Amino acid sequence: MDNAQTSPSFATRAIHVGSTPDESTGAVIPPISLSTTYAQTGVGNHKGFEYSRSNNPNREALERQIAALENGKYGFAFASGSAAASTLLHLLGHGPSHVISIDDVYGGTSRYFTHVASLLGVQTSFVPLEGTVEEAVIASNWKKHTKMIWVESPTNPTMKIVNIPHLARIAHSRDAILVVDNTFLSPYYSNPLDLGADVVLHSVSKYINGHSDVIMGVVVTKHQHLAERLRFFQNAIGSVPSAFDCWLAQRGAKTLHLRAERHGENALKLAHYFATEGVKRGWVKSKHDILYPGLPWNANYDIMMEQMSKHVKANNGDVSLGVPTGGMLSVSFSDSVSEAGEKILERLTLFSLAESLGGVESLAELPSKMTHAGIPKALREELGINQNLVRFSVGVEDYQDLENDIRRAAEDVYAS
Ligand SMILES: *Cc1c(COP(=O)(O)O)cnc(C)c1O
Repeated sequence: MDNAQTSPSFATRAIHVGSTPDESTGAVIPPISLSTTYAQTGVGNHKGFEYSRSNNPNREALERQIAALENGKYGFAFASGSAAASTLLHLLGHGPSHVISIDDVYGGTSRYFTHVASLLGVQTSFVPLEGTVEEAVIASNWKKHTKMIWVESPTNPTMKIVNIPHLARIAHSRDAILVVDNTFLSPYYSNPLDLGADVVLHSVSKYINGHSDVIMGVVVTKHQHLAERLRFFQNAIGSVPSAFDCWLAQRGAKTLHLRAERHGENALKLAHYFATEGVKRGWVKSKHDILYPGLPWNANYDIMMEQMSKHVKANNGDVSLGVPTGGMLSVSFSDSVSEAGEKILERLTLFSLAESLGGVESLAELPSKMTHAGIPKALREELGINQNLVRFSVGVEDYQDLENDIRRAAEDVYAS
């Protein structure tokens, strides 16, 4: 099974692309290829592998698998999501260049733009790009050397949704490329290349690997001219993942569809629990303080529904209660108790108090003091990251156990 076109089904692609039995032994699961170098039968005569930084069987297998899941043609794996992002910026080429990034971008990406890329002549403007952004907003931020628009959708942690096809049209009309960091939704819930994006990026450390035991990044594109340059940069810059990590991530991605479905079901149920019980008992002031893209009352819900991947859309029957959109859920708790968010986090037992996301186990954190503490307070509040905003990475445990954990913690905090 060589590429996405040979199989229409996401699940089948996840399990089979890049995973054919080993020809020499028949091993159904590809062995881990630790060799750094490969014997040639004559000078320049080899089997596609020369030196493991340039290419490695496990990495190639994983790259093909993820490219197939994103409906792309070419995948490139890196030592982290951040390494993927920094390598990607080399597409900007020589001379001064300018990137328009969504204001609510991942902290590490913002840090890289501001403190590293800037040293190399790349200037970045952080612009609110939520919803269907007016072309005038883009025009007023456009510079002579603008070459790239960079977005995440939904954003972290306030779950803002970007109209990707609209932004792709604007970018292309101005000869720029659109990069979408699709880490939060994973390829299961959305395929930005189908929506007009030129490049998709993932922190594989999150949903794709899914077990919180690998740091890795990946970039996928359909464009051959970008792929050729990315392949060159991947080898020349050399921030590549290990064979073992590629093998683990490939194994993880084989169950992405199963995990993603359960993450989504659990998170949607929890969102409804907060919207009903949470509001009734005064833990949350209004259902609008529950930030989950799949809730019908969420801003830009219609855009989100348009942007769901085809197989998810096909599965969504009754959508009156909303639809699963993955495991990320943020809740702004009522300030009727001081530091309620922090107090709830300290009382949760199943949800570990930890940064990161996308693993099978549930995690929760306080962005204002943890993942987003580096953002100046004024900007943080402008972005909607208040001190009682809690971000949940809802895992795939039994739903009722998760709800019980939250109920116990919230009852304790709001009763006192
Ligand atoms: C974690 C994350 C990254 C960075 O990935 P690493 O693998 O940690 O380097 C980039 N974007 C988003 C949205 C992330 O969540």
